[in-house]
Amino acid sequence: MNLTKIKGIVIKETPYKDNDKIITILSDELGKISVIAKGAKKTNSPNLASSQYLVYSEFVLYKSTNYYYINSSEVLNMFYNLRVNFDKLEIAFELTKIIYNVTDENQDTSNILKLLLNTLYVLDKLNKDEKLVVAIFKVKLLDILGFTPRIDICNNCSKKLYEDKLEKVYYDYIDNIFLCKNCVLTKDNKRYIEISVPTLIAINYVVRSDIKKIFSFDLKEKYDFELFGQVFMEAISNTI
Ligand SMILES: [Zn+2]
Repeated sequence: MNLTKIKGIVIKETPYKDNDKIITILSDELGKISVIAKGAKKTNSPNLASSQYLVYSEFVLYKSTNYYYINSSEVLNMFYNLRVNFDKLEIAFELTKIIYNVTDENQDTSNILKLLLNTLYVLDKLNKDEKLVVAIFKVKLLDILGFTPRIDICNNCSKKLYEDKLEKVYYDYIDNIFLCKNCVLTKDNKRYIEISVPTLIAINYVVRSDIKKIFSFDLKEKYDFELFGQVFMEAISNTI
């Protein structure tokens, strides 16, 4: 029997037979995998906790035909505060659903796992604006997946976008590009959103920073950042 040791978090549970379930794990080394957790619904199962949604564990797995099976497991983080707070749990559902849709088996998901764990940690332990946390998560996730447009200059005329902090900049979500005030004039206003330069600087910070540091900034006006996170995600979801 070939055993594989991984670390991962359960992002989905699917009922399967009486005492078994199929869990989807976002792992550090195998990408998103389906694992049959045999007997995991029994109260005396050693894998009872580790096979639950949103629990981060170290697993020893073996593969047989199309599925992995759990040989043994050890819980690393339960995210306890999150699972007893319905609003936070709902946010976690949104995050894991997004991740489920953009990941695959055998993909390098180590950074996506790191991002999810850091985001859940912030929601679990810190008192941060939750909408902003979700928006930061989306911006960083899309950056890891390679969708970040050029942020520093207008995509049409190459004008620097950071220079005047009182100016507005424009995100064209059809083409996934940033534009300056002049270049957006001729465009249909149904294809772009207006955001402030401090917001653009915050977006740049999230893109450039290590995953561990992306939540350590604050914005006076959070609305533009939250709107951008949402629109950016929707724009990319339509293309993948
Ligand atoms: Zn321009």
